[in-house]
Amino acid sequence: MIGAGIAGLATALRLSAAGLEVTLLERHATLGGKIRTHPSSAGPIDAGPTVLTMRHVFDGLFESAGEKLEDHVTLIRQDLLARHFWPDGSRLDLFEDEAQSFDAVRAFAGAKAADQFLRFSSRSRRLFEAFDAPMMQAMTPRFAQLAGHVLRQPGLIPLMGPLSTLHNMLRRSFDDPRLVQLFGRYATYVGGSPSHAPAILQLIWHAEAAGVWVVKGGMHKLTEAIGRLLAVHGVRIITDAHVDRIEIQNGLASKVHLQGGDIIPCDGAVYAGDPRALATGALGPDLTQIARQTLTEKRSFSARVHSFAATPHGSQLVHHNVFFDSEPLSEFHDLMANRVPDKPSIYICALDRGQGVDPPALERFEIITNAPPTDDIPIREDIETWHPQIMQKIAQFGLTFSPMPSPQTVTTPRHFAQMFPESQGALYGQTPHGMTAGLKRPTARTAIPNLYLAGGGTHPGAGVSMATLSARHAAEAILSDLTSTSTSPRTAMHGGMSTA
Ligand SMILES: Cc1cc2nc3c(=O)[nH]c(=O)nc-3n(C[C@H](O)[C@H](O)[C@H](O)COP(=O)(O)OP(=O)(O)OC[C@H]3O[C@@H](n4cnc5c(N)ncnc54)[C@H](O)[C@@H]3O)c2cc1C
Repeated sequence: MIGAGIAGLATALRLSAAGLEVTLLERHATLGGKIRTHPSSAGPIDAGPTVLTMRHVFDGLFESAGEKLEDHVTLIRQDLLARHFWPDGSRLDLFEDEAQSFDAVRAFAGAKAADQFLRFSSRSRRLFEAFDAPMMQAMTPRFAQLAGHVLRQPGLIPLMGPLSTLHNMLRRSFDDPRLVQLFGRYATYVGGSPSHAPAILQLIWHAEAAGVWVVKGGMHKLTEAIGRLLAVHGVRIITDAHVDRIEIQNGLASKVHLQGGDIIPCDGAVYAGDPRALATGALGPDLTQIARQTLTEKRSFSARVHSFAATPHGSQLVHHNVFFDSEPLSEFHDLMANRVPDKPSIYICALDRGQGVDPPALERFEIITNAPPTDDIPIREDIETWHPQIMQKIAQFGLTFSPMPSPQTVTTPRHFAQMFPESQGALYGQTPHGMTAGLKRPTARTAIPNLYLAGGGTHPGAGVSMATLSARHAAEAILSDLTSTSTSPRTAMHGGMSTA
């Protein structure tokens, strides 16, 4: 198992619980991948994802190991999903309870907008439910099967807006441009722009409306809990272990080479980093035919992430807070042109809020703004000018921090590119732009019969829950190949049953 992000951890847990002998190799000193933290005087501060959605995916993971999720982490369900602020002083809270959101939208933008919200919300739910099984839960979704599925439910086609971008669909759905802006932001959850992402991404709203959970203590508590379970299941965990080659012998992955010279023999391997690393040759010359599409498809967006501890003054913050700019598409024009946005929307996670108790005096915060991936074009790393601009923009909303956070703890796309090999700093694999983007990702099986993929760069996509779902696909592919009694070369793995 190469890579100990949530996908690698989840795959290792499923495989070890099924009785396989697993070695987990991670190039960093700690487990978790993008679920990482910065140290601070208020304790470790999350510097990656901040909440869980699609809880059933995590329940399923722990159940696969005979465990209950709630015995290992404390999850706090959020009634209030997010608070949204605009420069004109308007503010909108959205809730898990649709009726409460309806009332909030009515107070914010009037009765017609509230009706439009209900219609949008129901469309999002229908799309989510329609595509969950044939797309997200399917190990290898196929265009023909999806087309058949859609044709059997013709009412779906207008809801999907098959030829529309998310932005255009939202413009047809809402009269109030602030609601177009708000729901368009969900494209950034998978690293895209509403002006280029397909309208079907409306369904992301339902993933959030169906429940958001804060992990008590921070998201890293989840990966720590899985790490402990791996130890219980006898997984050999090796950190500071960068894999620089997967050796292929007789058409099968046979050895994993670590930087520094160590070699680990294996009966099969799972790569759970960015699959672009295979196509570029970063894992050896024998694998460059795998995930070829990652070389030509554009990359998803990156981010600038600022984690710090401070005492806030001013705006009433909840766990999830979004501060919008008055020019909704400005940041996406910049991002599409590979520029760091001048007028970004600013997401502030007040990590100690929404935890069911009063926040401490010194609170932990994570501020995220969208940024382009590093690509081949060098981007400005002007943190010294960018940081005060962001702080000033936040101050215009009446929010200040003391002490003033220092720019030293800002993570940039370049940092992400260094941390996650061959990702070019993209946080969500390849771009979600284009009508068929969802079908273009690499899937669990590769052309090498005992080499598998998992992770946010593979199907069904990025985000903690999707990456965890990809782990289920990878584990199921491996276990089904192992139990297959056919003469398929995939059964070559069955001998030693060990996975590196
Ligand atoms: C700032 C930020 C905010 C986010 N917000 C959200 C959110 O709110 N909700 C959400 O669902 N998602 C969010 N995401 C996305 C989410 O974090 C990722 O989609 C998910 O964590 C990816 O997990 P993964 O296991 O696929 O990959 P990663 O976490 O990237 O893990 C891959 C691991 O493989 C290791 N690796 C790679 N190559 C090698 C090698 N050659 N040898 C050894 N090890 C290797 C890497 O070091 C890494 O640890 C956010 C991400 C970031 C950065």
